[in-house]
Amino acid sequence: MQITDHIHALKTHFQLVFSPERIVQRSVYLYLVFGEKVHLIDCGVKGVDQQIFAYLEAMDRKKEEIETLVISHSHPDHMGAAVSVKEKSGCKVAYHENERGWIEDIEKQYEERPIPGFHTLVEGSVSPDIVLKDDDLLRLEDGLNLNFIHTPGHSRGSISLYLEKDAALVTADALPLPGDLPLYEDIGESVASIRKLQQVPNVKVVFSSWEAPIQNPTEIKDRMEESLQLLRKIHETVCSNIEPEQSDMALCEKVVEELSLPPHAVSPIMAKAFSSSRKYCDKHLFRR
Ligand SMILES: [Zn+2]
Repeated sequence: MQITDHIHALKTHFQLVFSPERIVQRSVYLYLVFGEKVHLIDCGVKGVDQQIFAYLEAMDRKKEEIETLVISHSHPDHMGAAVSVKEKSGCKVAYHENERGWIEDIEKQYEERPIPGFHTLVEGSVSPDIVLKDDDLLRLEDGLNLNFIHTPGHSRGSISLYLEKDAALVTADALPLPGDLPLYEDIGESVASIRKLQQVPNVKVVFSSWEAPIQNPTEIKDRMEESLQLLRKIHETVCSNIEPEQSDMALCEKVVEELSLPPHAVSPIMAKAFSSSRKYCDKHLFRR
């Protein structure tokens, strides 16, 4: 669906299979930037290349017109189909240097972040043609520039993107969504990244990976503030539940209970997220 002059949003669906009894339906947005050429922001899980190509065909464009695939970060729902997209379109792949370890070597990612059904979601490893560093600018084509904003926290090399021509900010997974499990690796970095996004001037539309585009200035402001408040609530809960010689998993159990999160939230990934608060408990993370 076309949202701004150049950006189209494509919603894709996938499943997380924890066991035959517990299958969780998820969705993720990817974005297509239409100019002289076509540029992709993320590409969904394995197999989504077919959906992207079908969308392009419906828009009277060809897969060979894809010039760039920018990967916001290494998680499967953002790069799972990258091998096929690159092979079938001949595009260049761009991502942040801090994500190289997990995108260039998916087995390393699986070892360090073993999400269920990983290999059904990710086709293979992809090396970058363009390596992004900190804040950067990518000239997609004449007159169409993408500003990269390094927004770590969700992962070390997560990036957000700003397309100045459309006053559009793509935040990928940088803004935790109230009501969903808050996934981040480092709460201090997440908070700093959201504050960085709040400072981007002239934002008329926000695209995230988890929800429909937000186009109202008040809603954009509220959405960012809500994410901060959600992290604040978690951080305060974690810090008030820390006990001596407590394992990360034991802390996770207490926090999940206190925040009334679903029982499956007790997991190594959430334990790591919550424990990242430990080093900030005596700092004023939320004081401006
Ligand atoms: Zn992610």
